[in-house]
Amino acid sequence: MRIYSRSEHCISRSQISDNALKVLQRLKKAGFEAYLVGGCVRDLLLGREPKDFDVATNASPEQVKQVFRNCRIIGRRFRLAHVFFGKEIIEVATFRGSAEDDADRQLVHEDGRVLRDNVFGTLEEDVWRRDFTVNALYYNIRDFSVVDYTGGMQDHADAVLRLLGDPERRYREDPVRMLRAVRFAVKLGFKLHPETERPIFALADSLGSIPAARLYDEVLKLFLAGYGVQTFELLRHYGLFAILFPETDACLETQEHEFPRLFLIRALENSDTRFAAGKTLTPYFLLAALLWEPLQCAVQRLLQRGENETIAYQSAANEVLAKQVKIIAMPRHITQAMRDVWFMQAKLTRTVGSRPYRLLEQPKFRAAYDFLQLRAETGGADPGLVDWWTRFQSADDEEQRKMTAPPKNGAPKPRTKNRRYRGKPKTGGAPT
Ligand code: ATP
Ligand code: MG
Repeated sequence: MRIYSRSEHCISRSQISDNALKVLQRLKKAGFEAYLVGGCVRDLLLGREPKDFDVATNASPEQVKQVFRNCRIIGRRFRLAHVFFGKEIIEVATFRGSAEDDADRQLVHEDGRVLRDNVFGTLEEDVWRRDFTVNALYYNIRDFSVVDYTGGMQDHADAVLRLLGDPERRYREDPVRMLRAVRFAVKLGFKLHPETERPIFALADSLGSIPAARLYDEVLKLFLAGYGVQTFELLRHYGLFAILFPETDACLETQEHEFPRLFLIRALENSDTRFAAGKTLTPYFLLAALLWEPLQCAVQRLLQRGENETIAYQSAANEVLAKQVKIIAMPRHITQAMRDVWFMQAKLTRTVGSRPYRLLEQPKFRAAYDFLQLRAETGGADPGLVDWWTRFQSADDEEQRKMTAPPKNGAPKPRTKNRRYRGKPKTGGAPT
């Protein structure tokens, strides 16, 4: 164990949220040990602003509750105390021990997954329950030092992500650690230690045992944190993407052309750019993009069987979503919004009469228009159609009337089919 004194590290109290400091100080005053731990220490050492602040203490959740009025005990798998300050929540976890004989408090599935872990212990024991060495650093409020049992400070300096203990066993205990490895590697720009990396390829399948609700939370963290493109590439590299989105992965594997991949990358880039600009990200938009290709395959199959377009889209959406929610529990309001965006793709091709006006009124119009634009940018839709809608939105009444009028010569205005639009050939096109 090594202690880095205040002068040997760069964390200053001015970077720590006032509410987290309050929690640490109050616990200290009540006679308990209190540390900042986990991602916040890791991020502070990088000079980044932490997403949230986690506290570890030797006080039990009940004792924490006695110290704070604004406190609630949560969790079954891991019991924790949440201390509320308006919108900010400080998570206070009691040190975990390892009493493997205490079946009431600790429960391990036959596949090695830890299902319950409520044995309390000391800091020294708590350290080894954490995932990565850089996540196992403790900032002590008593003397502002950093306590390091695992070599986390050195790994941090070397930009290495190293799982504690035997990697294979740790992934079996909790397969989500594989997703966390990818997420942190991308976010921090760290490399996975070779031994941390090696088992992932073979163990990717075990992610399938994780409850769908937990995977939903993890998927949002993976894709909506500003590093979607790199995360997607790395998940594919390790075979993890195929477990999360099997239908999408199958499409990416079998497509001979680059369109589906390009579209996905564009959608992820777009959301990364929005994130960087501080704009809000809605999960449904990206999820709609992630499942667009499987939807298209199902739609085409139904159309070939002679279904009409509306029915084909509806049945295909039911089919694709029913399979996906078994793996990733997307809430109903999210799947409904995904359907809206999908179904509007077909409706956006109708630019005559009163329909365009009605579409403009729909709550998901803007998302559907953005979605169409991404498709057009990657050869999946007619760019002329995007232009039409761009003009229509800013046109005055008179202009809009002209735009939606049926063609004068009586011939029906050609309707842009919502079939695969594959853009113009890039090379070797016929001379004009
Ligand atoms: P961030 O909050 O930036 O996403 P984090 O490292 O703080 O990253 P949390 O999910 O907030 O991640 O977890 C806080 C800490 O709890 C981690 O740093 C780690 O020490 C521990 N931890 C979280 N999940 C696991 C896990 N599945 N296995 C082992 N330890 C974990
Ligand atoms: Mg955290």
